[in-house]
Amino acid sequence: MFKHDFFGNKSERSHVQYRGRFAPSPSGHLHFGSLIAALGSYLQAKHQRGKWLVRIEDIDKPREQLGADKSILSTLEAYGLYWDEQVLYQSQQSDLYDAVIAELLNQRMSYYCQCTRAQIKAIGGIYQGHCKHLNLSPDGSALRLINHHPIGQFSDKVQGEVLVNAALSGEDFIIHRRDGLYAYQLAVVIDDIYQGITEVVRGCDLLEPTARQITLYKTLAQPQPDYAHLPLAVTEQGYKLSKQNAAPAIDKTHPQPALISALTFLGQQPDPALVDASVEQIIGWAIDHWQLDKVPQRREISL
Ligand SMILES: [Zn+2]
Repeated sequence: MFKHDFFGNKSERSHVQYRGRFAPSPSGHLHFGSLIAALGSYLQAKHQRGKWLVRIEDIDKPREQLGADKSILSTLEAYGLYWDEQVLYQSQQSDLYDAVIAELLNQRMSYYCQCTRAQIKAIGGIYQGHCKHLNLSPDGSALRLINHHPIGQFSDKVQGEVLVNAALSGEDFIIHRRDGLYAYQLAVVIDDIYQGITEVVRGCDLLEPTARQITLYKTLAQPQPDYAHLPLAVTEQGYKLSKQNAAPAIDKTHPQPALISALTFLGQQPDPALVDASVEQIIGWAIDHWQLDKVPQRREISL
């Protein structure tokens, strides 16, 4: 079935309903930074009467925190962000990833590589295709995609025209890691195709990897989604708010203040009367009044 869906069969997009998604990794609780990505993607979908899906990106087991998926989902509900359709777990998708990988190998669009990080660093940090014709065995190898579609530039609905480092975006990049993990780029693109996502709204920390993801869409002959990368919440010290730097969890019992702050952060101008409103009223107002063109490219917050 993947052959039909994933190779050379461009599906018609013109009358397709909007489908967006929020795709957190279960490596911690939902913090203000992830609330912005969740809320922005939700409002962009719901303002257009589209579907909003949630996908748990749990393919990096070592970084996972037990129960984080449940905590994220219950926080989304507390914030009035209800998803359509069943939550998709990436850990359930390996058969599909394997099928696409097998097909890429079969069509000679990928090859095994045994170069170490140190070796690549020694030649300037950009992989030069050393193993491309060596016919290496899968054992102890990473799998690289033959990059026939280097992307030097793409359009983003918030960030405008984005230029990408040409050397880096033209690299034969890894799609299946030596340690057996699927590369983030591969999983995210296969799942976005699988879920029929028409537009990806997410944080700017994922702006640069977008070029490689577009390369994958072109390799798989699939229409690429539109992109809108939201500004990142950074601390006064300039650090991105993230689970890694222990950003505080958002309040599940009294979501209104964080919701209003997130709307303000996204350049919307919440009605002052909403301060005393219910979560449902705030979300309802935000869906009606959502304007993507008001979202700033960058923004700093102090917490
Ligand atoms: Zn190599």
